[in-house]
Amino acid sequence: MKNVKLCTLLTEEEIKKKIEELGRKISEDYSNSSPLLIGVLKGAWIFMADLVRAITVPVRCDFLQVSSYGQATESSGVVKIITDLKSSITNEDVILVEDIVDTGLTLRYIIDYLSIRHPKSIKICALLDKPERHKINIKIDYLGFTVPNKFVVGYGIDYQELYRNLPYIGYVELEE
Ligand code: 5GP
Repeated sequence: MKNVKLCTLLTEEEIKKKIEELGRKISEDYSNSSPLLIGVLKGAWIFMADLVRAITVPVRCDFLQVSSYGQATESSGVVKIITDLKSSITNEDVILVEDIVDTGLTLRYIIDYLSIRHPKSIKICALLDKPERHKINIKIDYLGFTVPNKFVVGYGIDYQELYRNLPYIGYVELEE
């Protein structure tokens, strides 16, 4: 039986400071518009909740739920939309809010899925990025942190549906 050991990667304080920076930058860039933030569930919900409160321009929010890895540990690139948007995004300035970019395949699928609805613009905001794992070229417009190739949890991100409620971000190590 393996024990799960949690190691801290990013503290609550570091996350808070970074989200204030991201909020300031987004508020400057959208000073003349009211963007529609689309959070990708479930992993991005806590990030999104803090991010919108750090943005000073009026924003609207919607959510998209996509299938995760299931039992697999790596994205296949085949993404299933579980819950679709409630709002129209045609002519909207969309900011897609993701928890973590790993291979980039999920994000690529979602961008293509949203693009056919003709938004005015789409920008990507991701809390975490694992650049060494990218399989495709993905431009992240607003990035929180680059992280090493570890399985991260906390602050909305789960391991078998657990650890979402951790206020910090850690990584999981399995011990004998
Ligand atoms: P990608 O398609 O970029 O490979 O995978 C993106 C999705 O995989 C993320 O939105 C997240 O749900 C999941 N994911 C990627 N890396 C991790 C990780 O380190 N921990 C957890 N819990 N999920 C991850």
